Amino acid sequence: EEAYLEVTDLHVQFPTADGKVQAVQGLSYALPLRRTLAIVGESGSGKSVSSMAILGLHDRKSTWISGSIKVGGKEVVGMSEKDLMSYRGADAAMIFQDPQSSLHPFFTIGAQITESYRAHHNVSKRAAKARAVDMLGRVGIPNPSRRVDQYPHEFSGGMRQRAMIAMALVNDPKLLIADEPTTALDVTVQAQILDLIADLQRDFGSAVVFITHDLGVVAEIADDILVMYGGNAVEHGPVEKILGSPLHPYSWGLLESIPAVSGTPGPLHPIPGSPPSLLAMPSGCAFHPRCEFRDRVGGDLCRTLKPELIPRTADQGRTSRCHLKEPDKVFETEVLPRLP
Ligand code: SF4
Ligand code: MG
Repeated sequence: EEAYLEVTDLHVQFPTADGKVQAVQGLSYALPLRRTLAIVGESGSGKSVSSMAILGLHDRKSTWISGSIKVGGKEVVGMSEKDLMSYRGADAAMIFQDPQSSLHPFFTIGAQITESYRAHHNVSKRAAKARAVDMLGRVGIPNPSRRVDQYPHEFSGGMRQRAMIAMALVNDPKLLIADEPTTALDVTVQAQILDLIADLQRDFGSAVVFITHDLGVVAEIADDILVMYGGNAVEHGPVEKILGSPLHPYSWGLLESIPAVSGTPGPLHPIPGSPPSLLAMPSGCAFHPRCEFRDRVGGDLCRTLKPELIPRTADQGRTSRCHLKEPDKVFETEVLPRLP
């Protein structure tokens, strides 16, 4: 199927007080319409940074970006601020964990959705407000014609999240990026918002990138998973394949540390160590200092040679970045000491 979003060899760097951070290091993936890709990884893995770059939301003065990001055929890398303004919202939109970052406290919900709509459509205020009411209804806000005139503080957390989704979707973007949108919500509201996003995707036919560290959410909502580690993809493929039998030791570790997903009863087996510093990446495979399987690979390969992201099983559309020859067999026979 033809890709609507196409990220090719993306690099993102920016300076910090401690030096240059290589936040994204050669990321490539593609996503067609009507599919949901979950990007999974610890904080600092590059999942948020790469997604901000898709909307051109990074600091343009200090951030250095190379590679290509195509959305609906448009090249976003190097796009002018003026073109970005018309691209954002209309072609691609983003929802965040914290609605406060998208909703202004001093304006009514309706005024904000209306303004966003009129920025892309030459319509009267009355028509735009009717659209706002319609959108609030579609995201499940009761009494939308009354709610439209209220301020964000008059909404509950879950309702604010819905209002932010309404605002993101008001111009019918074909790409929706959701960055941990349910993390701050209680479990019931979280489930409602996930259902809502799935429903809207069906109605609008959009492509969704869902950034999360919660594999339970991934199992719920995603078609495909991209696992990121140290600024790059380490595994990419269909959700049921990766959750059922991961090919990368890091994906395996993520699953092993979550009994509900792996089906493993008993104590967790957390991944030892901590994520790499993006200021000083390990040599070879970025995961090697934490990898329990590096001794299964001959010689010094893991420490000296960075593995490529390569197709693993041709018929399943899976790729992974690891020197292990038959990772699934290695994981199968692995019996790990459980924590006391
Ligand atoms: Fe582990 Fe080596 Fe594979 Fe890296 S390349 S994940 S160190 S086995
Ligand atoms: Mg983040």
